[in-house]
Amino acid sequence: MASVRTLETLQFDNSFARLPEVFHAKVTPTPLKNPFLVSFNQDAAALIELSPEEAGRPEFAGCFGGQYLLPGSEPIATVYAGHQFGAYVSRLGDGRAILLGEVRNSLDEKWDLHLKGAGLTPFSRDDDGRAVLRSCIREYLCSEAMHGLGIPSTRALCVVGSEEEVLREQVEPGATMLRLAPSHVRFGHFEFFYWRRQFDHLKTLTDYVIARDYPNVADLKDTPDKYARFYHEVAVRTARLIAKWQAVGFAHGVLNSDNMSVLGITLDYGPFGFLDEYNPAFICNHSDHHGRYAFQNQPDIGYFNLRCLAQAFTPLVPDEAIKAELDAYEAVFAEHSAELMRAKLGLRESRPGDDALLTGLLELMRGSVADYTNVFRFLCDFKQAAEDRNETLRDFFVDRDAFDKWAAGYKERLRAEGSRDEERAERMKRVNPKYVLRNYLAHQAIRLATEQKDFSEIERLRQLLRDPFAEQPEMDRYAAPPPDWGKRLIVSCSS
Ligand code: AMP
Ligand code: MG
Repeated sequence: MASVRTLETLQFDNSFARLPEVFHAKVTPTPLKNPFLVSFNQDAAALIELSPEEAGRPEFAGCFGGQYLLPGSEPIATVYAGHQFGAYVSRLGDGRAILLGEVRNSLDEKWDLHLKGAGLTPFSRDDDGRAVLRSCIREYLCSEAMHGLGIPSTRALCVVGSEEEVLREQVEPGATMLRLAPSHVRFGHFEFFYWRRQFDHLKTLTDYVIARDYPNVADLKDTPDKYARFYHEVAVRTARLIAKWQAVGFAHGVLNSDNMSVLGITLDYGPFGFLDEYNPAFICNHSDHHGRYAFQNQPDIGYFNLRCLAQAFTPLVPDEAIKAELDAYEAVFAEHSAELMRAKLGLRESRPGDDALLTGLLELMRGSVADYTNVFRFLCDFKQAAEDRNETLRDFFVDRDAFDKWAAGYKERLRAEGSRDEERAERMKRVNPKYVLRNYLAHQAIRLATEQKDFSEIERLRQLLRDPFAEQPEMDRYAAPPPDWGKRLIVSCSS
């Protein structure tokens, strides 16, 4: 795939805009004041075959700062609803992110160009339609970091800064972020038409998503099974996605059903956080007073959201089928989660007692407030020899005796499957990242950007997190747990 397209020659094919008017509103981005390029991501540009040289053009920041429209773009805001913190909200929609259009590349892949922070739409409610630079940088870096970790996610093409003043807890600079995804359709899109009892539209939307994004389901043609099969696929993808989040220690922060992708990709980065010290009750969103979206609750919340989607599908899918698929969610989650955690422990086979081995390690980590990412990374170099005390790893734990006991059990388990240290270490380092986007790392990049207009740290982090499994020894310090100031950063819904 050659990246040869210019801003003017992207191939748009705006299928969502061709849906009937009830699905969206035509809008135009509101230009940011004096836009400038903050960061450009060549990897994402390659997805739409956009030449990286385009980022050097003076028009580039204008284009993604809302000043000019790309030829072929038909900007719309789509309408959706959703369950927010458990309660149904009947009308949400793209309140500040505008779908500029869909670009088709030469592999016939379709990418939504979604501009976050692009100004007011009919769905902005009482808000301003804007996004601040701080939150755009966080989403930009995290979506690429997730991709680097092998976790399905929206992607990020660029961040554009400005002299626009946006009021949050204080005045902050406004910005936009252009994100790419094969689709931005959410569970909430279906809920909207279900609760309005517009079942024809519900069917139109479902047929549209199946035809566009689920070719294997589309092949089933017009049987009632088609919709059950579709729901099944969404449930499976959601289960696998959340299992991946749990394995890597990612908390989304606002898992409302309007932030759940029908493609099973991570969507809408707000007050997310990666675990530093292991704490299953970790709440990354300071506005989440009851911890509904705490780290350990995410699998159950996935189930809750799938139930919301199931309800929306009741006009299309028989109840028994839905029930079976919800069970499938739980089964797939359990299976994939076990598989991922087994790989993190470096075990090739599944044996009775593996669960206890994992729980034992997690309990040790919790008791010692040990760093989740670091412990698993150091575990990769665990030595099986009876006399080896694995001192570096041992140093993470307060209760040495408990660790020694656990380590003895682990050695026995490794021997039982004929594990070899070197081979296992290599395998484990491909699933246990050395680097994750810790909150304090993002915070440092944001401070430099907002206070000094220095965007170099954003680029450094982006490069680092493209391959979080590689040693990158010159970047060692980025693997460190947060310093004290970095443990107390407040991240709220305000973005
Ligand atoms: P979120 O919590 O970011 O997923 O957003 C929930 C809903 O609020 C969505 O409909 C958003 O489009 C809308 N929203 C969030 N922030 C803003 C904003 N600053 N201006 C307009 N709408 C917003
Ligand atoms: Mg959202």
